[in-house]
Amino acid sequence: MERLDVGDEIAVDEACARCATPLVAPASVVRQDGELFCCASCARAAGGRVGLVGRGCAHCGAPIVDRATAVTSDSRLFCCANCAVAPRDVEPPIR
Ligand SMILES: [Zn+2]
Ligand SMILES: [Zn+2]
Ligand SMILES: [Zn+2]
Repeated sequence: MERLDVGDEIAVDEACARCATPLVAPASVVRQDGELFCCASCARAAGGRVGLVGRGCAHCGAPIVDRATAVTSDSRLFCCANCAVAPRDVEPPIR
């Protein structure tokens, strides 16, 4: 897994490979196995070996394993800024 540089080859229509959240905040985006994820927490969740510790993301349900990218909004916890601004009516494909 590698961190992307801000502004590095992310088109505005890119979305997280796990939760389909639009990648509007490149700072937290990571690449793993050739796919883009909204953040390290979601990338780990995609691997399926993360035990749920505490609350998960209010948008995509990913366990928050990387608190450096986690944000809170309206007293809800999100794995990253991408999920925090994602449309509320977008249902994640995986919980
Ligand atoms: Zn995601
Ligand atoms: Zn995320
Ligand atoms: Zn999320």
